[in-house]
Amino acid sequence: MPTVSPHPSLSALADAFGDRLLTSVSPELPALAATVFDGDPRVPAALARPRTTAEVSDAVRAARDAGLPYTVRSGGHSYARSSVLDGGLVLDLRLMDGIRVDRDTRIGHAQGGATAGAYTGAAGEHGLATGFGDTGSVGIAGLTLGGGIGFLSRRDGLTLDNLAGAEVVLGDGRVVETGPDQEPDLFWALRGGGAGLGVVTRLDLRLQETRDVVGGMLAWRPDPHVLSDVVAAIAAAPDDLSGMVNVMLAPPAPFLPADLHGKPVIMALVCWSGAPRDADDVLAPLRAHAPLVDLVEAKPYPAMFGGGPDTAGLRGATATGFTDVPDAAAAAVMIDAVRTATAPQALVNLRIMGGEIARTGVEETAFAHRDQAVMTTIAGMTSEPDQEADVRAWVSEASARIAVDRGPAYVNFLSGAAPADLARAFPGRTGERLRAVHAQYGSVGANA
Ligand SMILES: Cc1cc2nc3c(=O)[nH]c(=O)nc-3n(C[C@H](O)[C@H](O)[C@H](O)COP(=O)(O)OP(=O)(O)OC[C@H]3O[C@@H](n4cnc5c(N)ncnc54)[C@H](O)[C@@H]3O)c2cc1C
Repeated sequence: MPTVSPHPSLSALADAFGDRLLTSVSPELPALAATVFDGDPRVPAALARPRTTAEVSDAVRAARDAGLPYTVRSGGHSYARSSVLDGGLVLDLRLMDGIRVDRDTRIGHAQGGATAGAYTGAAGEHGLATGFGDTGSVGIAGLTLGGGIGFLSRRDGLTLDNLAGAEVVLGDGRVVETGPDQEPDLFWALRGGGAGLGVVTRLDLRLQETRDVVGGMLAWRPDPHVLSDVVAAIAAAPDDLSGMVNVMLAPPAPFLPADLHGKPVIMALVCWSGAPRDADDVLAPLRAHAPLVDLVEAKPYPAMFGGGPDTAGLRGATATGFTDVPDAAAAAVMIDAVRTATAPQALVNLRIMGGEIARTGVEETAFAHRDQAVMTTIAGMTSEPDQEADVRAWVSEASARIAVDRGPAYVNFLSGAAPADLARAFPGRTGERLRAVHAQYGSVGANA
């Protein structure tokens, strides 16, 4: 039996939810309230695990009646930790992880708690895919609401560009369907506007024919000319090549020379989804730099996804913005920033935009950064709480050197949700329209 909540409306919810409603004193709460990133202690007043849209609606109404702020938790990968709320209600959607692939309509239906990896596996059985990011454990809802950039983005656009419709529970508990012709303002805002506009209980996503791809990792020693050329080569490649390039402290992996462990290394992750026979030509400019490691090979698309963490107990920070394709001088600054990192895990991540991402108008969705060249993110992580301050200081210093501490930013890679962060994610007319949609539909969640 759950511990009875002090809020009468939550007690009623406890009667309906049984052991799927936990309170702050439930022994199972800490494990279920944990997210991928750790930090200041946050103890929710309650955590509800709905199984149906009707139960989500009941939980939203109960929170409103109790005057309790609430937030939604799906994959738990928010860098800003916005899916856990001190003293509020967490709506944990992980029991709503159903996925249905409709071959005829080429639409994948995912419940609000489904993960990218599970969906990709299910769609892959039909030779179909919707592009997400690079990590299987990321929640589809959180990813799509902010954007979704990954292995198919230059071919198919961001994940949000493939959203065909959604079911949403609004802040007053009403359930609405949204799509291009239904609640169009809400549909506009859900595509890139981030969380906070209700609980998305179902996403309908367009699927594309995607069977074997040629993809994997290439690594080089930390040479600024190589970094510059590799990023430029991906940017100039046909749209069927998507990729990202990391400058990072090399992990002690057996496939990397031992003298590089703990030192900066350049690692690209690429995915060619065009005709396999063309892969060698497309990848030739990357291979021309004699990679130390070349693990690129033909594989079924789902094999591009590693598992990924559910909870990692990691602390640290990210800083994100957009840059040009770095020339050798800018690349040298990036490599030097990683060389001087005080974080055990430190990286500069360069995601090459362009292709289909850039073909949608900047104001057509709430993702305002389509004309940018490279999404550049710095991340510093540690599992040691007493190193957190040093790691944060390094991220802050590196972000100033690389100039991603200002200007436009991708909401899903921000590690804060302060007004100044949100102004970077939603600048100008996008921000104005998003505020109007929030005023119309009501804001919910930790960032409301
Ligand atoms: C290891 C790792 C790899 C990543 N890789 C990529 C990548 O390749 N590409 C990329 O674009 N991003 C990537 N991200 C960033 C990721 O897109 C965001 O962190 C995203 O918000 C995570 O969604 P989630 O559901 O897992 O997280 P959560 O923490 O559960 O949710 C994130 C936000 O969305 C809200 N939310 C979640 N579900 C719902 C719902 N059903 N309805 C309404 N609101 C909801 C939450 O309240 C919260 O505010 C990565 C993050 C990590 C940690």
